[in-house]
Amino acid sequence: MSETNPGINRRDAMRLFSAGSAAGILGLFESPAARAETHLTPSYAVGMPKVTITNVKAIATAPEGANLVIVKVETSEPGLYGIGCATFTQRAFAVVTAIEKYLVDFCVGKDVDNIEDMWQSAYVSAYWRNGPVLNNALSGLDEALWDIKGKRANMPVYQLLGGKCRIAVECYAHASGPTPEAISENVKKFMDQGFRHVRIQQGGYGGVGTMELKPDFKEAGFGRQSDSFSDQHTYLKRVPKMFEIVRKSCGEDVELLHDVHELVEPMDAINMIKQLEQYHPFLIEDPFSPENMKWLKTLRANTTVPIAIGELFNNINEFRDPMVDQLIDYIRIHISQIGGITPAMKVARLGEWFNVKTAWHGPGDTSPVGHAANAHIDLAIKNFGIQESHFWSAKAQEVFLGCQTYKNGYMYINEAPGIGVDINEKEAAKYPIGTKSNWTVRKSDGTIIKP
Ligand code: MG
Repeated sequence: MSETNPGINRRDAMRLFSAGSAAGILGLFESPAARAETHLTPSYAVGMPKVTITNVKAIATAPEGANLVIVKVETSEPGLYGIGCATFTQRAFAVVTAIEKYLVDFCVGKDVDNIEDMWQSAYVSAYWRNGPVLNNALSGLDEALWDIKGKRANMPVYQLLGGKCRIAVECYAHASGPTPEAISENVKKFMDQGFRHVRIQQGGYGGVGTMELKPDFKEAGFGRQSDSFSDQHTYLKRVPKMFEIVRKSCGEDVELLHDVHELVEPMDAINMIKQLEQYHPFLIEDPFSPENMKWLKTLRANTTVPIAIGELFNNINEFRDPMVDQLIDYIRIHISQIGGITPAMKVARLGEWFNVKTAWHGPGDTSPVGHAANAHIDLAIKNFGIQESHFWSAKAQEVFLGCQTYKNGYMYINEAPGIGVDINEKEAAKYPIGTKSNWTVRKSDGTIIKP
Protein backbone atom coordinates (compact mmCIF):
# COMPACT_ATOMS: atom_id res chain seq x y z
CA MET A 1 0.00 0.00 0.00
CA SER A 2 2.78 2.41 0.89
CA GLU A 3 4.35 1.65 -2.48
CA THR A 4 1.32 2.75 -4.48
CA ASN A 5 0.18 5.50 -2.08
CA PRO A 6 3.36 6.92 -0.57
CA GLY A 7 1.44 9.82 1.00
CA ILE A 8 -0.52 7.54 3.35
CA ASN A 9 1.24 6.08 6.38
CA ARG A 10 0.34 2.82 8.10
CA ARG A 11 -1.71 4.55 10.86
CA ASP A 12 -3.75 6.48 8.24
CA ALA A 13 -4.36 3.28 6.38
CA MET A 14 -5.50 1.42 9.51
CA ARG A 15 -7.88 4.29 10.34
CA LEU A 16 -9.37 4.20 6.86
CA PHE A 17 -9.84 0.42 7.03
CA SER A 18 -11.39 0.64 10.50
CA ALA A 19 -13.98 2.95 8.97
CA GLY A 20 -14.86 -0.01 6.78
CA SER A 21 -13.58 -1.45 3.57
CA ALA A 22 -15.58 1.26 1.81
CA ALA A 23 -12.27 3.03 1.34
CA GLY A 24 -11.20 0.42 -1.15
CA ILE A 25 -14.63 0.36 -2.79
CA LEU A 26 -14.69 4.15 -3.08
CA GLY A 27 -11.31 3.98 -4.70
CA LEU A 28 -9.50 6.31 -2.30
CA PHE A 29 -6.24 4.74 -3.32
CA GLU A 30 -6.86 4.78 -7.05
CA SER A 31 -7.18 7.36 -9.77
CA PRO A 32 -10.61 7.58 -11.49
CA ALA A 33 -9.10 6.08 -14.66
CA ALA A 34 -7.74 3.07 -12.77
CA ARG A 35 -11.13 2.58 -11.05
CA ALA A 36 -12.96 2.53 -14.37
CA GLU A 37 -10.52 0.03 -15.81
CA THR A 38 -10.83 -2.26 -12.78
CA HIS A 39 -14.59 -2.25 -13.04
CA LEU A 40 -14.69 -2.92 -16.78
CA THR A 41 -12.13 -5.73 -16.79
CA PRO A 42 -12.65 -9.02 -14.91
CA SER A 43 -10.07 -9.21 -12.15
CA TYR A 44 -8.44 -12.37 -13.53
CA ALA A 45 -8.04 -10.69 -16.91
CA VAL A 46 -6.38 -7.46 -15.77
CA GLY A 47 -3.21 -7.16 -17.78
CA MET A 48 -4.11 -10.21 -19.92
CA PRO A 49 -5.01 -10.00 -23.60
CA LYS A 50 -8.35 -11.44 -24.74
CA VAL A 51 -7.93 -15.15 -25.49
CA THR A 52 -9.37 -16.34 -28.78
CA ILE A 53 -9.64 -19.71 -30.49
CA THR A 54 -6.93 -20.25 -33.11
CA ASN A 55 -7.70 -23.86 -34.11
CA VAL A 56 -9.98 -26.81 -33.38
CA LYS A 57 -8.72 -30.36 -33.93
CA ALA A 58 -10.34 -33.78 -33.87
CA ILE A 59 -8.25 -36.52 -32.27
CA ALA A 60 -9.61 -40.02 -32.87
CA THR A 61 -8.23 -43.02 -31.00
CA ALA A 62 -9.25 -46.51 -29.90
CA PRO A 63 -6.78 -47.77 -27.27
CA GLU A 64 -9.34 -50.26 -25.91
CA GLY A 65 -11.00 -51.05 -29.24
CA ALA A 66 -13.93 -48.63 -28.77
CA ASN A 67 -13.75 -45.55 -31.01
CA LEU A 68 -13.15 -42.36 -29.01
CA VAL A 69 -13.17 -38.82 -30.41
CA ILE A 70 -11.62 -35.83 -28.66
CA VAL A 71 -11.91 -32.15 -29.58
CA LYS A 72 -8.84 -30.04 -28.90
CA VAL A 73 -9.36 -26.27 -28.85
CA GLU A 74 -6.15 -24.28 -29.29
CA THR A 75 -5.96 -20.62 -28.29
CA SER A 76 -4.07 -17.39 -28.83
CA GLU A 77 -2.45 -17.83 -25.42
CA PRO A 78 0.76 -19.87 -25.90
CA GLY A 79 0.38 -23.30 -24.29
CA LEU A 80 -3.28 -22.83 -23.37
CA TYR A 81 -5.69 -25.38 -24.88
CA GLY A 82 -8.72 -27.38 -23.82
CA ILE A 83 -9.99 -30.87 -24.62
CA GLY A 84 -13.48 -32.31 -24.65
CA CYS A 85 -15.16 -35.65 -25.36
CA ALA A 86 -17.05 -35.88 -28.66
CA THR A 87 -17.37 -39.67 -28.67
CA PHE A 88 -20.11 -41.33 -30.72
CA THR A 89 -18.41 -44.66 -31.00
CA GLN A 90 -20.68 -46.12 -33.72
CA ARG A 91 -20.26 -43.14 -36.10
CA ALA A 92 -16.88 -41.76 -35.05
CA PHE A 93 -15.71 -40.73 -38.53
CA ALA A 94 -18.86 -38.65 -39.03
CA VAL A 95 -18.07 -36.72 -35.83
CA VAL A 96 -14.46 -36.17 -36.95
CA THR A 97 -15.80 -34.68 -40.22
CA ALA A 98 -18.26 -32.44 -38.34
CA ILE A 99 -15.38 -31.10 -36.25
CA GLU A 100 -12.85 -30.66 -39.04
CA LYS A 101 -15.18 -29.35 -41.73
CA TYR A 102 -17.56 -27.19 -39.69
CA LEU A 103 -16.44 -26.52 -36.13
CA VAL A 104 -13.06 -25.03 -37.09
CA ASP A 105 -14.64 -22.34 -39.25
CA PHE A 106 -17.29 -21.67 -36.64
CA CYS A 107 -14.82 -21.22 -33.78
CA VAL A 108 -11.64 -19.56 -35.01
CA GLY A 109 -11.29 -15.99 -33.76
CA LYS A 110 -13.99 -16.31 -31.08
CA ASP A 111 -13.54 -15.49 -27.38
CA VAL A 112 -12.89 -18.64 -25.29
CA ASP A 113 -14.67 -17.19 -22.27
CA ASN A 114 -18.24 -17.05 -23.57
CA ILE A 115 -19.21 -20.70 -23.19
CA GLU A 116 -22.98 -20.21 -23.06
CA ASP A 117 -22.96 -17.98 -26.13
CA MET A 118 -20.73 -20.45 -27.98
CA TRP A 119 -23.06 -23.32 -27.08
CA GLN A 120 -26.23 -21.50 -28.06
CA SER A 121 -24.81 -20.20 -31.34
CA ALA A 122 -23.16 -23.50 -32.32
CA TYR A 123 -26.37 -25.40 -31.47
CA VAL A 124 -28.39 -23.52 -34.10
CA SER A 125 -25.58 -22.78 -36.55
CA ALA A 126 -26.61 -25.67 -38.83
CA TYR A 127 -30.27 -24.56 -38.56
CA TRP A 128 -31.38 -28.21 -38.08
CA ARG A 129 -30.25 -29.52 -34.73
CA ASN A 130 -30.56 -32.06 -31.91
CA GLY A 131 -28.95 -34.91 -33.76
CA PRO A 132 -26.15 -37.16 -32.69
CA VAL A 133 -22.90 -36.35 -34.58
CA LEU A 134 -23.39 -32.55 -34.37
CA ASN A 135 -24.27 -32.77 -30.67
CA ASN A 136 -21.15 -34.86 -30.09
CA ALA A 137 -18.97 -32.31 -31.87
CA LEU A 138 -20.64 -29.56 -29.85
CA SER A 139 -19.97 -31.49 -26.64
CA GLY A 140 -16.29 -31.70 -27.47
CA LEU A 141 -16.19 -27.94 -27.97
CA ASP A 142 -18.20 -27.24 -24.81
CA GLU A 143 -16.07 -29.44 -22.55
CA ALA A 144 -12.88 -28.03 -24.07
CA LEU A 145 -14.06 -24.49 -23.27
CA TRP A 146 -14.80 -25.53 -19.66
CA ASP A 147 -11.32 -27.06 -19.54
CA ILE A 148 -9.82 -23.77 -20.75
CA LYS A 149 -11.87 -21.73 -18.27
CA GLY A 150 -10.73 -23.95 -15.43
CA LYS A 151 -7.11 -23.59 -16.49
CA ARG A 152 -7.51 -19.79 -16.68
CA ALA A 153 -9.12 -19.73 -13.24
CA ASN A 154 -6.55 -22.21 -11.91
CA MET A 155 -9.42 -24.37 -10.61
CA PRO A 156 -10.88 -27.80 -11.40
CA VAL A 157 -14.13 -27.46 -13.38
CA TYR A 158 -16.30 -28.61 -10.44
CA GLN A 159 -15.26 -25.45 -8.60
CA LEU A 160 -16.70 -23.35 -11.41
CA LEU A 161 -19.96 -25.34 -11.16
CA GLY A 162 -20.35 -24.46 -7.48
CA GLY A 163 -17.77 -26.54 -5.62
CA LYS A 164 -17.98 -29.97 -4.04
CA CYS A 165 -21.19 -31.42 -2.60
CA ARG A 166 -19.48 -34.68 -1.61
CA ILE A 167 -16.08 -36.24 -0.99
CA ALA A 168 -15.99 -38.34 -4.17
CA VAL A 169 -18.24 -39.96 -6.75
CA GLU A 170 -20.14 -43.11 -5.68
CA CYS A 171 -20.01 -45.64 -8.52
CA TYR A 172 -21.51 -48.90 -9.60
CA ALA A 173 -19.52 -51.73 -11.12
CA HIS A 174 -20.79 -54.05 -13.86
CA ALA A 175 -20.97 -57.80 -13.14
CA SER A 176 -21.94 -60.11 -15.97
CA GLY A 177 -21.60 -63.82 -16.56
CA PRO A 178 -23.18 -66.78 -18.34
CA THR A 179 -25.12 -67.94 -15.25
CA PRO A 180 -26.57 -66.32 -12.10
CA GLU A 181 -24.00 -68.25 -10.06
CA ALA A 182 -21.11 -66.82 -12.09
CA ILE A 183 -22.63 -63.34 -11.78
CA SER A 184 -22.89 -63.77 -8.00
CA GLU A 185 -19.19 -64.57 -7.82
CA ASN A 186 -18.39 -61.41 -9.79
CA VAL A 187 -20.65 -59.31 -7.57
CA LYS A 188 -18.77 -60.61 -4.52
CA LYS A 189 -15.44 -59.64 -6.09
CA PHE A 190 -16.65 -56.07 -6.52
CA MET A 191 -18.06 -56.05 -2.98
CA ASP A 192 -14.61 -57.11 -1.73
CA GLN A 193 -13.17 -54.10 -3.58
CA GLY A 194 -15.54 -51.82 -1.69
CA PHE A 195 -18.31 -51.36 -4.25
CA ARG A 196 -21.74 -50.92 -2.67
CA HIS A 197 -23.56 -50.89 -6.04
CA VAL A 198 -23.29 -53.50 -8.80
CA ARG A 199 -25.20 -53.80 -12.08
CA ILE A 200 -26.00 -57.41 -12.96
CA GLN A 201 -26.44 -58.77 -16.48
CA GLN A 202 -26.66 -62.35 -17.70
CA GLY A 203 -24.57 -62.29 -20.88
CA GLY A 204 -24.86 -59.25 -23.11
CA TYR A 205 -27.76 -56.81 -22.94
CA GLY A 206 -31.04 -58.62 -23.55
CA GLY A 207 -29.19 -61.86 -22.80
CA VAL A 208 -27.39 -61.60 -26.14
CA GLY A 209 -24.73 -64.27 -26.48
CA THR A 210 -26.12 -66.59 -23.80
CA MET A 211 -29.20 -67.97 -25.57
CA GLU A 212 -28.86 -71.69 -26.23
CA LEU A 213 -31.34 -71.59 -29.09
CA LYS A 214 -30.09 -71.23 -32.66
CA PRO A 215 -32.07 -68.36 -34.17
CA ASP A 216 -34.15 -69.24 -37.23
CA PHE A 217 -32.94 -66.19 -39.18
CA LYS A 218 -29.38 -67.50 -39.14
CA GLU A 219 -30.48 -70.95 -40.32
CA ALA A 220 -32.41 -69.25 -43.14
CA GLY A 221 -29.49 -67.08 -44.17
CA PHE A 222 -31.44 -63.89 -43.34
CA GLY A 223 -29.47 -60.82 -42.30
CA ARG A 224 -25.86 -61.46 -41.37
CA GLN A 225 -24.42 -64.35 -39.42
CA SER A 226 -22.74 -61.76 -37.17
CA ASP A 227 -26.10 -60.15 -36.24
CA SER A 228 -26.99 -60.53 -32.57
CA PHE A 229 -29.94 -62.53 -31.33
CA SER A 230 -32.16 -62.01 -28.32
CA ASP A 231 -34.92 -64.38 -27.29
CA GLN A 232 -37.13 -61.96 -25.40
CA HIS A 233 -39.18 -64.72 -23.73
CA THR A 234 -36.06 -66.38 -22.32
CA TYR A 235 -34.62 -63.03 -21.22
CA LEU A 236 -37.83 -62.05 -19.39
CA LYS A 237 -37.87 -65.35 -17.46
CA ARG A 238 -34.17 -65.21 -16.63
CA VAL A 239 -33.90 -61.75 -15.10
CA PRO A 240 -36.09 -62.36 -11.98
CA LYS A 241 -34.30 -65.69 -11.47
CA MET A 242 -30.94 -63.91 -11.70
CA PHE A 243 -32.04 -61.35 -9.09
CA GLU A 244 -33.32 -64.14 -6.79
CA ILE A 245 -30.07 -66.11 -6.94
CA VAL A 246 -27.73 -63.08 -6.68
CA ARG A 247 -29.75 -61.63 -3.78
CA LYS A 248 -29.65 -64.97 -1.93
CA SER A 249 -25.96 -65.44 -2.58
CA CYS A 250 -24.70 -61.87 -2.02
CA GLY A 251 -27.00 -60.74 0.78
CA GLU A 252 -29.24 -57.75 1.37
CA ASP A 253 -26.61 -55.02 1.71
CA VAL A 254 -25.38 -54.71 -1.86
CA GLU A 255 -27.44 -52.47 -4.16
CA LEU A 256 -28.33 -54.25 -7.41
CA LEU A 257 -28.96 -52.54 -10.75
CA HIS A 258 -30.03 -53.93 -14.13
CA ASP A 259 -30.16 -52.54 -17.67
CA VAL A 260 -33.10 -53.66 -19.85
CA HIS A 261 -31.50 -51.72 -22.71
CA GLU A 262 -34.94 -51.15 -24.26
CA LEU A 263 -34.82 -54.66 -25.79
CA VAL A 264 -38.30 -55.97 -24.89
CA GLU A 265 -41.89 -54.90 -25.51
CA PRO A 266 -43.05 -52.17 -23.10
CA MET A 267 -45.75 -54.22 -21.35
CA ASP A 268 -43.34 -57.15 -20.97
CA ALA A 269 -40.81 -54.82 -19.37
CA ILE A 270 -43.46 -53.55 -16.95
CA ASN A 271 -44.49 -57.06 -15.91
CA MET A 272 -40.87 -58.10 -15.42
CA ILE A 273 -40.02 -55.04 -13.33
CA LYS A 274 -43.03 -55.75 -11.09
CA GLN A 275 -41.55 -59.18 -10.41
CA LEU A 276 -38.23 -57.56 -9.43
CA GLU A 277 -39.80 -55.43 -6.67
CA GLN A 278 -39.29 -58.19 -4.07
CA TYR A 279 -35.51 -58.03 -4.65
CA HIS A 280 -35.57 -54.22 -4.19
CA PRO A 281 -33.34 -53.15 -7.08
CA PHE A 282 -31.52 -49.83 -6.72
CA LEU A 283 -32.64 -48.91 -10.22
CA ILE A 284 -33.75 -50.47 -13.48
CA GLU A 285 -32.24 -48.81 -16.51
CA ASP A 286 -33.88 -47.94 -19.83
CA PRO A 287 -36.99 -50.15 -19.85
CA PHE A 288 -38.30 -48.40 -22.99
CA SER A 289 -36.87 -47.12 -26.25
CA PRO A 290 -37.20 -43.37 -26.91
CA GLU A 291 -40.20 -44.13 -29.14
CA ASN A 292 -42.11 -45.59 -26.19
CA MET A 293 -41.89 -42.92 -23.50
CA LYS A 294 -45.68 -42.74 -23.06
CA TRP A 295 -45.49 -46.17 -21.39
CA LEU A 296 -43.75 -44.59 -18.40
CA LYS A 297 -47.14 -43.62 -16.96
CA THR A 298 -48.34 -47.23 -17.00
CA LEU A 299 -45.04 -48.39 -15.50
CA ARG A 300 -45.23 -45.82 -12.72
CA ALA A 301 -48.82 -46.74 -11.90
CA ASN A 302 -47.84 -50.38 -11.46
CA THR A 303 -44.53 -50.46 -9.61
CA THR A 304 -42.38 -48.42 -7.25
CA VAL A 305 -39.07 -49.80 -8.58
CA PRO A 306 -36.77 -46.79 -9.27
CA ILE A 307 -36.32 -46.13 -12.98
CA ALA A 308 -33.37 -44.62 -14.88
CA ILE A 309 -33.93 -43.49 -18.44
CA GLY A 310 -32.48 -41.44 -21.25
CA GLU A 311 -29.23 -42.99 -22.49
CA LEU A 312 -30.51 -42.63 -26.06
CA PHE A 313 -31.91 -39.12 -25.75
CA ASN A 314 -30.21 -36.43 -27.81
CA ASN A 315 -32.33 -33.37 -27.13
CA ILE A 316 -32.44 -32.03 -23.59
CA ASN A 317 -36.12 -31.27 -24.10
CA GLU A 318 -36.75 -35.03 -24.16
CA PHE A 319 -36.04 -35.09 -20.42
CA ARG A 320 -38.40 -32.31 -19.47
CA ASP A 321 -41.74 -34.13 -19.33
CA PRO A 322 -40.59 -37.37 -17.65
CA MET A 323 -38.78 -35.27 -15.03
CA VAL A 324 -41.49 -32.70 -14.41
CA ASP A 325 -44.14 -35.45 -14.30
CA GLN A 326 -41.89 -37.43 -11.91
CA LEU A 327 -42.10 -40.54 -14.07
CA ILE A 328 -38.41 -41.36 -13.57
CA ASP A 329 -35.96 -41.36 -10.68
CA TYR A 330 -32.62 -41.09 -12.48
CA ILE A 331 -31.55 -39.14 -15.56
CA ARG A 332 -29.47 -41.41 -17.73
CA ILE A 333 -27.55 -39.16 -20.11
CA HIS A 334 -24.62 -39.76 -22.38
CA ILE A 335 -23.31 -36.26 -21.88
CA SER A 336 -21.53 -36.00 -25.21
CA GLN A 337 -24.80 -36.98 -26.97
CA ILE A 338 -26.66 -33.96 -25.60
CA GLY A 339 -23.90 -31.42 -26.20
CA GLY A 340 -21.64 -31.35 -23.14
CA ILE A 341 -21.47 -29.95 -19.63
CA THR A 342 -23.53 -26.83 -20.37
CA PRO A 343 -26.79 -28.64 -21.27
CA ALA A 344 -26.17 -31.47 -18.77
CA MET A 345 -26.03 -28.94 -15.94
CA LYS A 346 -29.40 -27.56 -17.01
CA VAL A 347 -30.95 -31.04 -17.00
CA ALA A 348 -29.37 -31.78 -13.62
CA ARG A 349 -30.67 -28.54 -12.10
CA LEU A 350 -34.16 -29.21 -13.43
CA GLY A 351 -33.96 -32.62 -11.77
CA GLU A 352 -33.26 -31.04 -8.41
CA TRP A 353 -36.69 -29.37 -8.48
CA PHE A 354 -38.41 -32.72 -8.98
CA ASN A 355 -36.16 -34.99 -6.92
CA VAL A 356 -34.82 -36.71 -10.02
CA LYS A 357 -31.19 -37.71 -9.60
CA THR A 358 -28.36 -38.28 -12.07
CA ALA A 359 -26.89 -41.54 -13.34
CA TRP A 360 -24.72 -40.36 -16.26
CA HIS A 361 -23.76 -42.94 -18.88
CA GLY A 362 -20.11 -43.89 -18.33
CA PRO A 363 -19.01 -47.00 -20.26
CA GLY A 364 -15.77 -47.63 -22.16
CA ASP A 365 -17.16 -45.81 -25.19
CA THR A 366 -17.05 -42.56 -23.28
CA SER A 367 -13.45 -41.26 -23.16
CA PRO A 368 -11.63 -40.50 -19.89
CA VAL A 369 -12.29 -36.83 -20.76
CA GLY A 370 -16.01 -37.57 -20.90
CA HIS A 371 -15.82 -39.50 -17.62
CA ALA A 372 -14.12 -36.48 -16.08
CA ALA A 373 -16.96 -34.26 -17.34
CA ASN A 374 -19.45 -36.67 -15.70
CA ALA A 375 -17.51 -36.57 -12.45
CA HIS A 376 -17.13 -32.78 -12.25
CA ILE A 377 -20.92 -32.47 -12.45
CA ASP A 378 -21.40 -35.40 -10.03
CA LEU A 379 -19.27 -33.61 -7.47
CA ALA A 380 -21.00 -30.25 -7.81
CA ILE A 381 -24.74 -30.99 -7.87
CA LYS A 382 -27.05 -31.75 -4.97
CA ASN A 383 -29.09 -34.37 -6.86
CA PHE A 384 -26.28 -36.71 -7.83
CA GLY A 385 -27.49 -40.32 -7.80
CA ILE A 386 -24.89 -42.83 -8.94
CA GLN A 387 -22.14 -43.01 -11.56
CA GLU A 388 -21.29 -45.82 -13.97
CA SER A 389 -17.61 -46.74 -13.66
CA HIS A 390 -15.03 -47.91 -16.17
CA PHE A 391 -11.56 -49.18 -15.30
CA TRP A 392 -9.02 -47.88 -17.80
CA SER A 393 -6.47 -50.24 -19.31
CA ALA A 394 -2.73 -49.48 -19.28
CA LYS A 395 -2.93 -48.55 -22.99
CA ALA A 396 -5.75 -46.07 -22.38
CA GLN A 397 -3.76 -44.52 -19.53
CA GLU A 398 -0.81 -43.98 -21.85
CA VAL A 399 -3.06 -42.10 -24.28
CA PHE A 400 -5.02 -40.21 -21.63
CA LEU A 401 -3.14 -38.67 -18.72
CA GLY A 402 -4.98 -38.04 -15.47
CA CYS A 403 -7.55 -40.84 -15.78
CA GLN A 404 -10.02 -41.37 -12.95
CA THR A 405 -9.08 -43.72 -10.13
CA TYR A 406 -11.28 -45.87 -7.88
CA LYS A 407 -11.09 -46.64 -4.20
CA ASN A 408 -13.69 -48.22 -1.91
CA GLY A 409 -16.46 -47.80 -4.50
CA TYR A 410 -15.70 -44.14 -5.15
CA MET A 411 -14.31 -42.49 -8.27
CA TYR A 412 -11.64 -39.84 -7.75
CA ILE A 413 -10.69 -37.31 -10.40
CA ASN A 414 -7.38 -35.68 -11.12
CA GLU A 415 -7.59 -32.36 -9.24
CA ALA A 416 -5.57 -30.37 -11.79
CA PRO A 417 -7.04 -27.07 -13.07
CA GLY A 418 -9.62 -27.56 -15.82
CA ILE A 419 -11.10 -30.94 -16.67
CA GLY A 420 -8.02 -32.72 -15.29
CA VAL A 421 -7.35 -35.06 -18.21
CA ASP A 422 -4.86 -34.52 -21.03
CA ILE A 423 -4.13 -36.47 -24.20
CA ASN A 424 -0.84 -37.71 -25.61
CA GLU A 425 -1.46 -37.29 -29.33
CA LYS A 426 1.52 -39.41 -30.33
CA GLU A 427 0.22 -42.35 -28.27
CA ALA A 428 -3.34 -41.74 -29.51
CA ALA A 429 -2.18 -42.09 -33.13
CA LYS A 430 -1.06 -45.67 -32.41
CA TYR A 431 -4.70 -46.77 -32.11
CA PRO A 432 -6.71 -45.84 -35.22
CA ILE A 433 -10.50 -45.91 -35.09
CA GLY A 434 -12.64 -48.24 -37.19
CA THR A 435 -16.09 -48.33 -38.76
CA LYS A 436 -17.61 -51.32 -36.96
CA SER A 437 -21.17 -50.89 -35.81
CA ASN A 438 -22.57 -53.82 -33.88
CA TRP A 439 -26.04 -52.68 -32.89
CA THR A 440 -28.03 -55.17 -34.92
CA VAL A 441 -30.13 -57.34 -32.60
CA ARG A 442 -32.85 -59.58 -34.07
CA LYS A 443 -35.65 -61.83 -32.87
CA SER A 444 -35.47 -65.47 -33.95
CA ASP A 445 -37.61 -64.72 -37.03
CA GLY A 446 -35.20 -61.95 -38.01
CA THR A 447 -37.25 -58.94 -36.88
CA ILE A 448 -35.05 -56.07 -35.72
CA ILE A 449 -35.30 -55.24 -31.99
CA LYS A 450 -34.99 -51.53 -31.22
CA PRO A 451 -32.46 -50.72 -28.53
MG1 MG B 1 -27.57 -48.58 -20.61
